[in-house]
Amino acid sequence: MRVAIVSSEAAPFAKSGGLADMVGSLAAALGRRGLDVTLVLPAYRCVLARSDVAATGMAFPVPAAGGIEQVEVLEGVGGEGAAARFVRVDRFFDRDGLYGQGGTDYTDNADRFACFARAALALLARVDPPDVLHGHDWQTGLAVAYLRLQPERYPSLTSTRTLFTVHNVGYQGLFDAGVFPRLQVDSAHYWPNFEFYGNISYLKAGLSLADRLTTVSPSYAEEVKTAEQGCGLDGVFRARAGDLAGIMNGADYRVWDPDADAFIARRYSAAAPEGKHDCKRDLQQRLDLPPVDAPLAGMVARLVDQKGLDVLAGALDALLSRDMQIAVLGTGDRRHEQALTGFAERHSGRLAVRIGFDEELAHVIEAGSDLFLMPSRYEPSGLNQLYSLRYGTIPVVRATGGLRDSVVPCDPATGEGTGFLFGDYASEALVGAVDRALDCYRRPDAWRRLMANAMAQDFSVDRAAAQYAALYAQLVDRTD
Ligand code: ADP
Repeated sequence: MRVAIVSSEAAPFAKSGGLADMVGSLAAALGRRGLDVTLVLPAYRCVLARSDVAATGMAFPVPAAGGIEQVEVLEGVGGEGAAARFVRVDRFFDRDGLYGQGGTDYTDNADRFACFARAALALLARVDPPDVLHGHDWQTGLAVAYLRLQPERYPSLTSTRTLFTVHNVGYQGLFDAGVFPRLQVDSAHYWPNFEFYGNISYLKAGLSLADRLTTVSPSYAEEVKTAEQGCGLDGVFRARAGDLAGIMNGADYRVWDPDADAFIARRYSAAAPEGKHDCKRDLQQRLDLPPVDAPLAGMVARLVDQKGLDVLAGALDALLSRDMQIAVLGTGDRRHEQALTGFAERHSGRLAVRIGFDEELAHVIEAGSDLFLMPSRYEPSGLNQLYSLRYGTIPVVRATGGLRDSVVPCDPATGEGTGFLFGDYASEALVGAVDRALDCYRRPDAWRRLMANAMAQDFSVDRAAAQYAALYAQLVDRTD
């Protein structure tokens, strides 16, 4: 099985968020299963700077932005041997950011990712015609669309099937309808496959024209079909319901494992959990929290509305009136950053807030916390609750999307379950769930059982890779 994973991000080459981790670790996990995987990415400035990326000598022209661009092909070796190819068009990709700079999108993203789509297809048609092209998010919507709408341009790809994965329907690749003529697609396709409330959407193009669709958890696959969560594309998801599945993202346990984590004060495991106490003291010390035994709740997130920061803000005074500490790491909207920093000043010694992106501190918080808070408004998959389970850090989450699919409600009577869920998007509901967690925490035997249940869960990326591999096999078998 030859699979081309076409994406705008993949760790370790180019990363702005969870998409990069998922794509990079999925490619490696598929490779471990014996699939022949090639990653195709743009040659951003951060890629050009890498010493493990080299020229191939291959070059070809593609249509772009109403003209012609010359594309060069670079190659590298990803995480664990997945081949990576990069399409180089310096005018579009040799820039500091992936999609923009200083919080503002580049104004030519429509042309940049149309060019990427053309270049990726031309490359695959020349060197490695894959059985399956697996695209991710709006940035690759046109790769899927061009292959379906203009097969005559890519004769060696006539048997290639397409899978399109949506990681977050909130990001839709919306552009002015005036871009459409530059895409060089027959105008008959404008209304059914591109138009979105007077604009065009690259996400809609991918959703409409891929052979099969996935979202990153089963619950999210249901939610995107509703008006509340479909962000205007729910009708497209409903129309394609028969081709839509949800595959829960997996964690890379080679990076996120308390028994092998290089960042944490002392390693621990389900069999020998004692080290977690040292990790808690280390976290308290790093964040200037007093070294007390009160329960400590952690949170690591992009500080954006999606993550439920208004619900958290409305709950903080009540939570901090309990005997507990809270540690928050994140960066994002200034409004949320300032609000959290203000709370931390008023509650010093109980609430610690660190603004910034800090991989090491993220590990230290996972290992040193007793609880982990994710009051998300919506959560397509979520990775942090998967890490928390592995670290015996009990998740307190809103029952939405991938959170609902990965955290089992704790039954205080039996001790079954892995965490605490709440339904209403409301501060009182979060406080109620934390109170249930604190009740359990006060009963050490019940808490130990809960930690053991959590740490025994398997949400590895290898499990996700097995499900994608099965889906690829189904796609290739299809005769229609
Ligand atoms: P999303 O993809 O919506 O941002 P996920 O929970 O799926 O949310 O993944 C977020 C990833 O980014 C996790 O690995 C998390 O630890 C990491 N992360 C988010 N914010 C920060 C930060 N400020 N510092 C370090 N890591 C962060």
